[in-house]
Amino acid sequence: MTLTSSLINLLLLALATTTYSHPHPHNQTAQSLPVPYGMVLADCAVPGTIALTFDDGPYIYTPALLDILADHGVRATFFVNGYRLTDHIDALQRIVAEGHQLASHTYNHAYLPSLDYANIVSEMQGLEDLLREFVGVVPRYMRPPYLAMDGRVLAAMDDLGYHVIGASIDTKDFERDDPWLIHDSIRRFVDGVNAGGTIVLAHDLYTQTVYTLTRAMLEEIAKRGLHATTVAECMGDPREYWYR
Ligand SMILES: [Zn+2]
Repeated sequence: MTLTSSLINLLLLALATTTYSHPHPHNQTAQSLPVPYGMVLADCAVPGTIALTFDDGPYIYTPALLDILADHGVRATFFVNGYRLTDHIDALQRIVAEGHQLASHTYNHAYLPSLDYANIVSEMQGLEDLLREFVGVVPRYMRPPYLAMDGRVLAAMDDLGYHVIGASIDTKDFERDDPWLIHDSIRRFVDGVNAGGTIVLAHDLYTQTVYTLTRAMLEEIAKRGLHATTVAECMGDPREYWYR
C-alpha cells in the first residue's frame, strides 16, 4: 500500500485539472450543504467537525473497533472492499445498524487509473450488489484505493453518482502496526489536526490501529472539543443522502 510519488503526482494533477461539478439539487436545502461530485473532497465542510475513516475492512478487528467507537459515542466512516466481505457480514451489518457511514472502496481494492471504463464500473457495481444483498444500502460516497485518481476515473465516479473522498490526515497506520511504532501514527494525527486536517485515514486491518491509535485519536478529539462524525455529516449531507 505504498503511495508512490507518481501516485501523488497523479492525484495532484487530478486536483488541478478538475473543477467544481454540478451539485445535485437534492442537497440544496436550508439544513444541508451542497456536496459536489467530480472532484476529490479531502476536508470537512462543517466547522468544528472531524471524520475518522477506516479503509479496507471489514476484518477480524472491526467488531472491537465498533465497540470502542460505541464506548465513545462516536460514529465513523468505513470504506469497505468486496472481495472478502462475505467473511465479515456481521461486522458489516453492525456498521450500518450502529449509525456509521458505509462507503465504497471498490470490490477488489483496485488501482482504478489502470482500468478501462467497463472495469471501473464493474469494480463499483460488484461491491454495490453485495451491499444491496447484505445490508440493503448502496453508498453515494467512495474513496479510491491508494488515493489513485485521474480525470477519467473522476468522470466515471460522477457518472455513477459517487462523491469522491480523499484524506487530509494520513496516519500511515499500515506501516506502523507495532506497539513501538504506532506512536508515530498518533503524532501524525496530532500534527495533522494542528495543521487543520479534518478527514483522517486509517485502516481497520491492524490491532494497533484499533486498540492504540483509535483510542488516542478519540481522546485527543474530546480534549479539543471537536465533533467526530461521519464524512457525509461533516460535509453537511443529511443521512437520507448517504445512500441511494
Ligand atoms: Zn485501501
